Amino acid sequence: MSHISEALERIRDRIKRACEQSLRKVDELTLIAVSKTRPIEDILEAYRCGVTNFGENKVVEILDKQPKLSDVNWHMIGHLQRNKVRKVLDKVCLIHSLDSVDLAVQIQKQAESLEIDKVECLIEMNLAMEESKFGLSTDKLKAFVDEISKLDRVRLRGLMTVAPYVENAEENRRLFSQMRELALDISKDLPHNSDMTILSMGMSNDFEAAIKEGATMVRIGTDIFGDRKYNV
Ligand SMILES: *Cc1c(COP(=O)(O)O)cnc(C)c1O
Repeated sequence: MSHISEALERIRDRIKRACEQSLRKVDELTLIAVSKTRPIEDILEAYRCGVTNFGENKVVEILDKQPKLSDVNWHMIGHLQRNKVRKVLDKVCLIHSLDSVDLAVQIQKQAESLEIDKVECLIEMNLAMEESKFGLSTDKLKAFVDEISKLDRVRLRGLMTVAPYVENAEENRRLFSQMRELALDISKDLPHNSDMTILSMGMSNDFEAAIKEGATMVRIGTDIFGDRKYNV
């Protein structure tokens, strides 16, 4: 067995256990294999092991990899620059990183021009208010959603967050539970084509804690593919 298939087996076990412990169904959960910086060979290996959702944080990598494996779901999980929106819109199933009205306006504009009916997006939240991270603070969410509701091709599906790195993942549970409450709260005031079904939270370091607090998508890179080497 390859590294990747063994790692996936372990991850799936851990996901299953976390679901059991929190009385949740495993099929409520989508595993996104975060394949940023990985060669296509690794991605194909994960695909052969049954992975059908991949996450990337750079448009160039999506443009490179998506044509080589087009019958899976590609997720844009990284900060999206407005001038790259057009290139990526028909390549991804979900943008996890909607973090400004300007970006949403650009998505609307390009969706109109490409005749894409709906672009599914998650609002990225920066709950710990870390300066190094993208995302909205909690107090901005309501006004943000009001602005988005004017854009009929932007379909909100939920929230996403990158929690702080902590030694003990349990420390992030409070934050994950805040996310769930926030989604529930805001779901009362959504435009009619939107919902708050998806909670994208939990990474290699803390996905079990996220599952226990209601995550519906976990984004796991390192624990599947090993440590990333950045040679840029
Ligand atoms: C890299 C990345 C991940 C995966 O992180 P790991 O710690 O490698 O599991 C998840 N989400 C986002 C937004 C990322 O950029």
